Amino acid sequence: MTTSDDRLARLTTDPVLREEADTLQAMVSLYCQHHHGTSDQRCPQCEAFLNYALKRLACCPYGAQKPVCAKCRIHCYRQAEKDLARNIMRWSGPRLTFTHPMLTLKHLVKSFTVTPPQKPKNRNQGK
Ligand code: SF4
Ligand SMILES: [Zn+2]
Repeated sequence: MTTSDDRLARLTTDPVLREEADTLQAMVSLYCQHHHGTSDQRCPQCEAFLNYALKRLACCPYGAQKPVCAKCRIHCYRQAEKDLARNIMRWSGPRLTFTHPMLTLKHLVKSFTVTPPQKPKNRNQGK
């Protein structure tokens, strides 16, 4: 297994990251269905965005302590993906309340209760 596979595995083994991954997937799918006329599968553009976002999530230096990305002090997304993420969250966020109420509730609670941690120290610092 490669390091990248190890990191992606965190999205299924870590409950916090798994829930974030589920929320991301639900939001992107909802957005794609409405904006791009898809049903079961996402369009290539949304699929590429989702893969990018899941990789960022898997590599998040905060790990299980991560805040919601909108409150993050690092902002690891490239500008284009950051803009698209904002559009998707704005559109899908309120609608997810009806399709995935528990995910929405947990995301909301997290956005109000988790204070964005300081940036994690560079692992190479002091070496
Ligand atoms: S934006 Fe911040 S919280 Fe979100 S994945 Fe990137 S580093 Fe983690
Ligand atoms: Zn799409």
